[in-house]
Amino acid sequence: MGKLVIVGTVAFDAIETPFGKTDKILGGAATFIGLSASHFNVDATAVSVVGGDFPQTYLDLLSNKKIDISGIEVVKDGKTFFWSGRYHNDMNTRDTLVTELNTLADFNPVVPEDYKDSDVVMLGNLHPLVQLSVLEQMAQKPKLVILDTMNFWMDCALDDLLNVIKKIDVITINDEEARQLTGEYSLVVAARKIYEMGPKYVVIKKGEHGALLFHEENIFYAPALPLEEVFDPTGAGDTFAGGFAGYLAKTEDYSFENMKNAVIYGSTLASFCVEKFGTERMQDLSNSEVHKRLMQFKQLTQFEIELT
Ligand code: AMP
Repeated sequence: MGKLVIVGTVAFDAIETPFGKTDKILGGAATFIGLSASHFNVDATAVSVVGGDFPQTYLDLLSNKKIDISGIEVVKDGKTFFWSGRYHNDMNTRDTLVTELNTLADFNPVVPEDYKDSDVVMLGNLHPLVQLSVLEQMAQKPKLVILDTMNFWMDCALDDLLNVIKKIDVITINDEEARQLTGEYSLVVAARKIYEMGPKYVVIKKGEHGALLFHEENIFYAPALPLEEVFDPTGAGDTFAGGFAGYLAKTEDYSFENMKNAVIYGSTLASFCVEKFGTERMQDLSNSEVHKRLMQFKQLTQFEIELT
């Protein structure tokens, strides 16, 4: 069982979807990644920052899921990162209404000593310089470094982002971000261009249309599970990444073949995330519910065909 370092925002989110609206609720990339990765019982730590306004109960929620929170700095007189977004009717696209970096603006991450020898590092969505600093603190080269990011950092810190992308093994981004990063419409061409930037594996998330895994000339596709109710897609991408990273850290097999399973786990976990607002569905999701849905997933995608 490998150890896992998770980096990302721990945040307040305010979300609007066609089904309703929330005040400030618990959010953040590291929060969703941690809740998802906790299903694999790996030894994991979250590295992030919050302000004095962040409720202790939210931090307890992560530690109750056995996520080490000693790497989450609390800046007593600072304010927590705040993001607000509004989804369009298709629920696949959204507008960011507010991004307040607050304590994130001058955050210096510190990887807890016990985790500097971790096998897997999940660089969740956050300033690329923070992602880089975490990588530089590792005692030796991790077996696998996965990076997730978003258009916000492409817009305001592209050079720093390209610099950290050089040093990673897997990138997970959504289709629009892949197009923005490469200037290519075709995702196949975009993946090829991303290989040239550094990563050997590219995961492109397509929301309700599933996810694609690229490696050299190989492509693997996993659909998203068709759901009766999609309430709020916030955090689905991070939940996917948490499942992907958690599964690989647990199995310690970083081959393309095993990454296919990691994509399936990531997609399965993400399918729960969207069923309620924010982190609500992930907070008390049981392993047996996950197992049941994996079986549904298998049925959805398995077929026998005789090729003559
Ligand atoms: P996702 O829906 O997977 O893209 O992730 C949504 C989460 O990302 C929300 O909980 C936000 O708090 C967080 N988030 C939004 N914007 C940023 C940003 N620029 N950097 C880091 N995290 C962000």
